[in-house]
Formats: sequence, C-alpha cells, structure tokens
Amino acid sequence: MTRSPSLFPLFAKLETLEGVGPKIADAFAGLGVKRPKDLLFLLPHSCIDRSRKSSIRDVSLPCTVTVEVEVGLHIPPRKKGRSYRIMVRDAAIEFQIVFFHNRGDYLRKILPSGSIRLVSGRVELFEGVAQMVHPDHVLCPEEAADFPFFEPVYPLTNGITQKQIFKAVASTLSRVTALPEWIDGPLLAREGWPTWADAVARVHAPISPADLVYTDSARQRLSYDEFFAHQLSLALARATLRKVKGQVTVGTGMLQAKVLKSLPFALTNAQVRAIAEIAGDMAAPLRMNRLLQGDVGAGKTLVAFQALLVAVEAGGQGVIMAPTEILARQHYEGLQALAAVAGVRLDLLTSRDRGSARARKMTDLADGTIHILVGTHAVFQKDVHFRDLRLAIIDEQHRFGVSQRMELGAKSDATDMLLMTATPIPRSLALASYGDMDVSVLDEKPPGRKPIKTALISTSRGAEVMARLRYAVANGRQAYWVCPLVEDSEVLGYISADARFKALRAVLGDVVGLVHGQMSSAEKDASMASFVAGKIKVLVATTVIEVGVNVPNASIMVIERAETFGLAQLHQLRGRVGRGAAESTCLLLYQIPLSGSGERRLKLLRDVEDGFRIAEEDLLMRGAGDVIGTVQSGLPCFRIADLKRQGDLMEIAQVDARRLLDEDPTLTSPRGRAARTLLWLLDQDRAIQLLSVG
Ligand code: ADP
Ligand code: MG
Repeated sequence: MTRSPSLFPLFAKLETLEGVGPKIADAFAGLGVKRPKDLLFLLPHSCIDRSRKSSIRDVSLPCTVTVEVEVGLHIPPRKKGRSYRIMVRDAAIEFQIVFFHNRGDYLRKILPSGSIRLVSGRVELFEGVAQMVHPDHVLCPEEAADFPFFEPVYPLTNGITQKQIFKAVASTLSRVTALPEWIDGPLLAREGWPTWADAVARVHAPISPADLVYTDSARQRLSYDEFFAHQLSLALARATLRKVKGQVTVGTGMLQAKVLKSLPFALTNAQVRAIAEIAGDMAAPLRMNRLLQGDVGAGKTLVAFQALLVAVEAGGQGVIMAPTEILARQHYEGLQALAAVAGVRLDLLTSRDRGSARARKMTDLADGTIHILVGTHAVFQKDVHFRDLRLAIIDEQHRFGVSQRMELGAKSDATDMLLMTATPIPRSLALASYGDMDVSVLDEKPPGRKPIKTALISTSRGAEVMARLRYAVANGRQAYWVCPLVEDSEVLGYISADARFKALRAVLGDVVGLVHGQMSSAEKDASMASFVAGKIKVLVATTVIEVGVNVPNASIMVIERAETFGLAQLHQLRGRVGRGAAESTCLLLYQIPLSGSGERRLKLLRDVEDGFRIAEEDLLMRGAGDVIGTVQSGLPCFRIADLKRQGDLMEIAQVDARRLLDEDPTLTSPRGRAARTLLWLLDQDRAIQLLSVG
C-alpha cells in the first residue's frame, strides 16, 4: 500500500526524537512504544494541577503548589550530609526551598538571591516550617508564560522520567500533520469530535481533569479510531471469508414442520429468529460463517437440529461436532426421537468407532444413507467423506482451539458453518471478538423454568452439606458434586475428585459415582449412563460435565472451592441443574478467607441467574481479556479505548466498517485510502494484505 510521505517521520526510529537516545528508546519499548507514532497513543493517566497560587497559605499542606517567589538568602549546609536551604517569600509568607545536595554554584544560578522566580513543587511542613523539597520546576518570569496549568502525568517505566516522556511526546507532536479523515463525516459531525491531528494534540495537553476521562471528545475520537481499525480488520476478514462461494441450500420445511408438530412446546421467539437467520444464510450463495450464542438451557440444540434438517430437506447432509464424547453421545441419544419423527437417519461417530463398524459408517456417509452425523472431532478425520455435506455445526465452540476451527474451515470449503456457544459474552465483547462472523443470539429462555436457588457456604460447614445431601438422596433427588480445577490441570482435578468420591462413598455408599477426564471413554459413558438411569445418585465430577450435559432429574449442584472457578464456568456448571420439574439448588462451597473479589463474584452468582447479565458484570469487575479467556482470544488489547465503558462505540464501528467495505471493497476511495492510513497508524496494516489475497 502506498503511504503518505508526510507520515514517515512518525514511523522513523525513536532515536530521531529530541532527547531520545538508545537507552531511552529501549526503555520506551517496555511501554509498547516502538516508533514515534506510538507515543501519540500513550496517554497521560492523570495530571498535576500547577495553576498559580499567590501564596502557599492558600492551600492546605502538604500539597503541590505553584507560586511566584522572591528569592532571599542561600544557606549552604554547615556540615556534610545536611541540606542546602534557600529562603523565599511569596505574596504572603516566607518559606524554604530545600535541596539535599550541595551544588551551590548551580543553585545560585537558577535561584539567584533577589530574583523573582516561579517555583512549583510539593510543599510540606517540617517541624513547623513550610518547605518545598527539590522543586519540580523553577522558571524565570519570562518562561512562566507558557508553563501549563495542568501537567500531564504518563504511565512510567523503569529508565524514563516524566520529563523525558513529555519531551519525546512534544517532539512527536511537532511531526503531526493534518490527515485525510477516515471517520464517516456525519458521525464526526454528530459527535462533535475533533480531527485526528487535533485530538492527539489535545489528549497530551489536558487543561482540566475532565480532559483525562474517556468522555473527553478527543479521547472518544481516538477510542473510536481504535475500534474502527479493529472492526475494519475483522470486516476485511469477513469479506474474505464471504468471497468463498457457498452452496445454495434451500429447505422445503417439511421435515422441520414434522418435528415442530411433535414437540410438547412451541419454539421461543428467539429460536424462531435464529432458525430463520441460519436458513437465510444457507439459502444464500455465500458460505455461512455464523455464531449462535445462547445461555445454558436456551435451547440451542433444537435450533441446530432444525438447521440440520434444512440441509437434509435440500437433499444434503449435516454434521454436528461436540467437544467431548459425553456430549456427542448425549446429542445423539437426545436427537434420536426427533430424527425418527422426521424420518432421517442419524448416526454417531467417535474415536471409539473402529474396524468394520467404522467402515460401515464410512460407506453410509459416502453414499448418503446417513443424513445427520453426530460426533467428536473424529468426524473431521481425513478419511471421513460425505456424499453432500451442506452444514457443519460445532457445539460449544469455545472448547475447541482456534487451530481446530481453522482446520474445519479448510476441510469444508463451501460448507456452511455454524458455531454454537453457551458462554454468554457481553455484546461489546462479542462484537470485538466475533466481528468477522454473523451472530445470532438466543436471548430468551423457554418459559416455565424454575429459578435455581443458589447459596454460598463455607467449607467449614461441610458436615451440614453432607447431611443435606444424604437427606435429598434419600428423597430420590440426584446431585452433581464438582471438584475444583487445580491450576487448570485435569490431573490434579482428578486427584481431588477421586478423594471426594471416596469420602462421599464412605457416607452414602455405592450410589456415588465418578467421572473425570482421565477415565477412558467407556468408563465415562458407563458412569454417565448410570447417572442418567438413576442408579447413581451423586455424581462426583471434574469440569468435564461443564458443558451441555443434560440430566433433568439432577436438581442439586455442589461446587467445591467455587472461588477457584471463573464466573462463566460457575454459571455453566449451575446450568446443569434446573432442567427438570423439581426445585433446584446450587451450593457454592468456598474456603475462607475469601478474597474481596472472590466474594463479589460468588455473591453476583448467588443473586443473578441471567448469563448475559453475569457476563456484563464480570466485564465490569475484570478486564475484557479475562472474561473472554485466552482460547478464544482474538481479542485485541486496546490502548485508549475501554470496552467496559465504550461498548456502544464498538457497535457503531462495526456497522460503519462493514458499510465502508460494502461501498468500497478495495479501500481505494478517498475515505478508503484514509482508512488505510488509520490501519497503518494502529498496526493493523496486515489486514490490508487480505485485500490482495482475495
Ligand atoms: P442449550 O442451549 O443449553 O444447549 P438445550 O438445547 O440443551 O439447551 O435445551 C435445554 C432443554 O430445553 C432441553 O430439554 C430442550 O428440549 C428444552 N427446550 C428447548 N427449546 C424449548 C422451548 N422452546 N420450550 C421449552 N423447552 C425447550
Ligand atoms: Mg447445548
């Protein structure tokens, strides 16, 4: 891409800036500053009030004060190691300026007796005497004119002082030239935002504390720039994906109608909407790349099945992949009845299928006898061939790494893709991380669900919990007992689950079962099956049961060391109960002492059941990166913008970015070219390469 030469000085080496040598340049790297332009986005986080007072008497000490003084007597230290004192007088009183060194020559030069000086620094009382120790600034009256009232304070790093940052920023600002505008004109006017050049100048010259908060229009503009650049990159990725020709898959609606008629309930509005959105994408000649997001129990499986039926109605096949064997089996078993109603052949494929049984399934897939395949990642092995695969669904997609997703995308060139996730994430985060996809949200739960009672209980009351559990089990109820995830290790989780299993067995007998990730698939299935059949009353588990498992009779969820789990995970685990007719309970066992944030999180969970609200609160309590987790990642680290508070800007940015690309797919219009500059400034220029790839 061609870059405007007027920008080159902003991309030069840091050492080209005034006052920056190799050492400081290295230190700047620690602040993420590699080139001058990066300094522009390193914003002051606070400022020091240096407005002039007539006397230090006007403020309550200790305090940073700026006053004009007449310099009096110099009192050099009488003994080595003592301080050097200079008497000064402001408009009202006399005080001392103190230095802990003995460089008299220098001090007589900057503060000669009898002169008038503007001094600024922290004044405190020491043994009843007001003194300013090592003033931050000493200026002649002539220099005082352009001394800022508010001095910006930058985030510090080892090896750089405020003054050095200030100087480097000033030097960079002098290189800034006006740039063609990339923000949509009407939006800029409506928001009253400054131009980019004005905005960067203003954020570095705050004149009041109000200029330092995100609501300041210059900061808003720069935040928007970041969001816009990010959304533009995602939109470019999306456009590239959409260039992939898809198949036109139009269903007849016949099979779907049969299934709906057989259900004892009606679809929720959200389900109807999601199915329509998915069917719309499948009917379009572009490859679908859609995310279905819905809280636990929102009914994603049914939406998925209806979408799979669209593929079958059109004469094709569909596949749904689950992250674990347990889930795959459960989907398979749960969907059997619906498949029978629709008259389609459903089959299961996991890594346990071997030999002739597997070979038979391969043949049936290849000749189209199997309409819908359910399975684990085994369904995407190289030798699995479909006759006419139209739709691939990935359930609980956050359990799969990015690479697996990519592999899948590569495997199925034109196949429409639907990803499903039960991890509700706030809208702003969804926009930030899935901006390259289209998103359907199930924001409504089927009616008639009973609320889950959630209680926080200290582990010291373990005996009480055991007693309650024994009583509940005696009354025919079933429970999960989830053991902590120790340092994310399935192995350690297994140890704690195993210990708990033995302890519960000792009390409750052989109605206690165990399931964890270290067991073989057959063992896991056996445990799950006896739990589903009701032979096992208490299932001790690691987080393998976190996603999707559906046992409606289970109405008690005990989570041990709940404080060690993330909010989203706790919410998922709790979602395993409350699926049947009985009142459900979730007991969050925690170990004292509970940290402040731990307590806030558990209380939030106790008080709120709506996953989206929990996610929003979670975002407010923690950073965006923590909420979304690292696996999904793709979430950029914004330097100025704050997703917590400026989610609305992200939404505007997405609409705007997609529109710009619709109108100017190659970014060659004047605004498109300006947008390229933005991408370059914000290190998103790799996105531009997508333009040439397609
Ligand atoms: P999730 O979104 O967590 O995957 P499921 O698809 O497992 O949720 O659905 C949870 C339960 O809700 C299932 O037993 C399903 O049959 C039921 N269900 C789905 N849609 C509806 C609806 N519209 N009305 C009532 N129950 C529904
Ligand atoms: Mg599900």
